Amino acid sequence: MGSNRCDVLVLGGGFAGLTCAVALAGKGRKVLLLDKKPRLGGRAYSLSEGGLDVDNGQHLFMGCYRATRQFLKTIGTEDKLDIYHDVVVDYVEAGGKRDRLACPSWLPAPLHLAAGLLGLKGVSWREKSALLAFDLSLKSMKFGPIPTAVERLTVRQWLTSLGLSPNFQTRFFDPAAIGILNEKPEVASAAGFIQALRAMFFAGRAASRFALAKTGLSELYTDAARAYIEARGGRVISNAKAAGFIEEGGRVRGIRTEMDSRFEAGHVVSTLPPWDLKKLDLPAALRGSWESLSPAPIVGATIKVDRPVMTERFLGLLGTETHWIFNKTLIHGKKEEGQTVAVVISGAHEQIGYSPEKIMSVATRDLSACLPEFAKARVLASKVVKEPFATLSPTPGSEAKRPEPGSGMPGFSFAGDWTRTGFPATIESACVSGQIAAKNL
Ligand SMILES: Cc1cc2nc3c(=O)[nH]c(=O)nc-3n(C[C@H](O)[C@H](O)[C@H](O)COP(=O)(O)OP(=O)(O)OC[C@H]3O[C@@H](n4cnc5c(N)ncnc54)[C@H](O)[C@@H]3O)c2cc1C
Repeated sequence: MGSNRCDVLVLGGGFAGLTCAVALAGKGRKVLLLDKKPRLGGRAYSLSEGGLDVDNGQHLFMGCYRATRQFLKTIGTEDKLDIYHDVVVDYVEAGGKRDRLACPSWLPAPLHLAAGLLGLKGVSWREKSALLAFDLSLKSMKFGPIPTAVERLTVRQWLTSLGLSPNFQTRFFDPAAIGILNEKPEVASAAGFIQALRAMFFAGRAASRFALAKTGLSELYTDAARAYIEARGGRVISNAKAAGFIEEGGRVRGIRTEMDSRFEAGHVVSTLPPWDLKKLDLPAALRGSWESLSPAPIVGATIKVDRPVMTERFLGLLGTETHWIFNKTLIHGKKEEGQTVAVVISGAHEQIGYSPEKIMSVATRDLSACLPEFAKARVLASKVVKEPFATLSPTPGSEAKRPEPGSGMPGFSFAGDWTRTGFPATIESACVSGQIAAKNL
């Protein structure tokens, strides 16, 4: 049985754990980070298979991801994130009909969004008149916690209560909500959507910019974060699965692993998702309603085709089972024959049970219907990734179950994207939680 001691033990090597460990190492703490997997990156990582370098799923960053950008800056990889100055989203539907949300760069936020929404072609002026009620409702919740009465509503119920027509919801709000919350608007709470909209549109125009990694996700942050921690005397141990906590005198004193190693620590920060954390042998004081939080799945595919099928960085697909398509060749600045694209199906409760072949047939059907060039293209290689535990399912009532980052019990703090950071459970939420958990240690 081995014995190890450190100032702070961080459980989990995803965005939250690495942000926390980097912040701690940066202020001179002796940090030990443990992850059960052989690689770092948690739910945001890259892999190579069948001649394709793919991410486990396309990840979209936003200008309002301040903690994420701070983390990348600290580890020296901020330049691997491309932040696009135009706020433009193109949409296409079966048959090839297009629409565009273009938020003028000369208008201040949130007027640029209003102008973008007013410019949508597929929504009538009568339907657009409901934007006034939408604007007033959003402004009334500009700061602070979302009122419980609103948190209990689904996105669909909130939008409908504001008089937004089904057509307007389908053409703009639904793709945005499902992309941000990873659940259908009928399932997701309005709270997370409002949190995201206000962070994007009430914090200056730059906050609403889109950003994408120019490299694979792992190259964006995992190696550089590990190097930063190790250069400051910290340690990162992979293949180390925590099994339970060492508790003495009402205080967490460390961790036991499945291999029965003991790691003693002045403090433990857990960034484990709730469905993993609750499997550990937990002190009674840590048990709570958070244990009933559940995950929502995402499925995606990276597809290499023999010709260019799109010119945009990404496109929203309207009315199809597949939600978004990303132009990986353009995003990664690659010179290659043909084109590599990545597609995303969010809130994929049904599709998570499909075989990879069936997911590919759904994706190729939808892409062929929307993009004439795809219909003519030959698929040269593809890789499907199914993530059953992709994100927290943000159903009504879930917000109150998210513990505050940094809370817990003596010797222990909760962190991770799923903690109550004021953001939906995203990369930014993970990084905010890591920063907060590290703050007072
Ligand atoms: C396909 C997909 C697409 C996504 N798209 C977006 C997007 O576009 N934008 C966005 O902002 N977010 C997106 N997300 C969400 C984003 O990936 C997560 O919010 C973020 O990565 C969570 O980071 P985390 O550190 O909180 O948790 P995790 O990344 O889950 O890290 C927790 C770590 O704990 C480790 N662990 C678990 N149990 C144990 C144990 N017993 N012992 C030791 N280690 C353990 C795990 O191996 C893992 O590495 C997406 C997620 C997926 C899966």
